[in-house]
Amino acid sequence: MKQFFKKLDLLYIKMDRAFDKAADHYGFQCNGCEDNCCKSFFYHHTFIEKDYLLSKANEFDYDRKISLKKSAALYLDTIKHKPLCPLNKDDLCILYNVRPMICRLHGIPHHLSMPGIETKQNPGCDAGASCFNSTNYFSFDRIPFYKEMTEIEKEYRKKVAVSGKIKQTIAHMLLDLSV
Ligand code: SF4
Repeated sequence: MKQFFKKLDLLYIKMDRAFDKAADHYGFQCNGCEDNCCKSFFYHHTFIEKDYLLSKANEFDYDRKISLKKSAALYLDTIKHKPLCPLNKDDLCILYNVRPMICRLHGIPHHLSMPGIETKQNPGCDAGASCFNSTNYFSFDRIPFYKEMTEIEKEYRKKVAVSGKIKQTIAHMLLDLSV
């Protein structure tokens, strides 16, 4: 699987660079807030991101994995109160290097540009609104990232022989930790 995870890593690096460039343009820094990715409710839709994240989470010792599973179960029990992502400990993501695409792209103003479809614009998070509104829009199209992710996911699915839809929160993923 290593070659697939390597490709994913390279895509993640591209995303992080693009995010940093845009954030620099706006003078924006994410300092955590009610709207940050760890407090927002997201589903993730790729097997490769789940498997990559779990491959790292499975390196934790037994007690930590049990504790993560408990946090994940609690998260799902209290989901309507928008709990903190179970991977966030003391305001830090404990699997920051392998956090999924949506965590990486969250917050910055962006658009979705697809042929034949009206371009969708997103203003970014509320915490950054004063930065984002005080300067011109930094062109940030998410579609090339989505496309590249789709290609990597397609190849990965063939390799591991999985099919169908996946729609999971981080908590759902953690319930599949091997303990
Ligand atoms: S995976 Fe990490 S960055 Fe993403 S929401 Fe959870 S704690 Fe935050």
